[in-house]
Amino acid sequence: MQPVGKSDILLKLEADESRSITLKESYLGVHVSPLTYEGIVTELKTRIKEGEQSTIIAVNPEKVMAAQKDPQVMDLINNSTFQIADGTGILLASKLKKGTITSRVTGVDMMARLLKFAEEEGYPIYLYGAKKEVIEKAAANIKNKHKGITIAGITDGYEQDEEALIERINNSQAKMIFVALGSPKQELWIRRNLDKLKDVQVFQGVGGSFDIFSGTVKRAPAFFRKFGIEWLYRLISNPTRLKRQLNLPRFLIKVLFTRK
Ligand code: UDP
Repeated sequence: MQPVGKSDILLKLEADESRSITLKESYLGVHVSPLTYEGIVTELKTRIKEGEQSTIIAVNPEKVMAAQKDPQVMDLINNSTFQIADGTGILLASKLKKGTITSRVTGVDMMARLLKFAEEEGYPIYLYGAKKEVIEKAAANIKNKHKGITIAGITDGYEQDEEALIERINNSQAKMIFVALGSPKQELWIRRNLDKLKDVQVFQGVGGSFDIFSGTVKRAPAFFRKFGIEWLYRLISNPTRLKRQLNLPRFLIKVLFTRK
C-alpha cells in the first residue's frame, strides 16, 4: 500500500489505474472510498458484469474509533469493497486532510439509490433484518415506490436458524441483499455467509435503514440534513446518545494530530 499524491491520507490499493474503486482515503488506518453514489453504481455495474461480489459498509467516526480498539472491526471495514463516508465527521476529516470527499454518502441514501438500480436492471433483492412488523412495512413501502422491483424475500432480524436462512436466500435468486442487524453484527453476518451466497453480488449493511423505510423512525428534518448536522437533531431527540456522539470530536482531534 503506497501513499500517493500530496496528501498523507490518499492510498492507491492496487496498481490498476483504470479503476477508481482502488483509490481510498485512510483515517486512523480505516479506509474510506471517496466515491459518490453514482461512482459506486458505475463500479458495481462493472463488478457485476465480471461476476464479482461487492460489499458496502458505512463508515462514521464511531466505527473508526471502535476500530482503534478492535482489530476485527478495522479488518471488517478495510476488507469491504466500498467504505462509504456516512458520517459528517468523515467529510470534515477529508477536508482537514485535503482529501477528495466532497459530500456524505449515507447508508440509507445508498440503499435508496441501489433500489432504483435494482429496479432498472431487474435484479431481485432480499431484505434481512429489523423487527417483523418493521421489515414488512419497509418492504410494502419499497414496492409501492418501485413498482418494477422484485423483492425476492424478506426475513426479520431475529431469525435464529442461519442455515435455513441461507438456503432461503439461495432459493430466492436474489442478486442484492440489504442486511439490517446493526453494526458490527450485520458485517460479521455478511462476511460469514458471502461464499455461501453465490448468486448475491451486492451486500450492503444498512443498520437502522429499514426503520426509516418503514416510517417507524423519521429522518432528521431537511434543515438538519442540508447543513450536515443530523447528529445534532438525533442528540436533541435522544440525549442519551451523547456518549456515542462524543466520538465525533475525539475522532477529529485524533485525525488532526495524526499524520496518517
Ligand atoms: N436488529 C436486528 N437483529 C438483532 C439486532 C438488531 O434485526 O439481533 C435490528 C434492529 O431491529 C434495528 C437495526 O438492527 O432495526 C439496528 O439499527 P441501529 O440503528 O442500532 O444500527 P446502527 O446503524 O446504529 O448500527
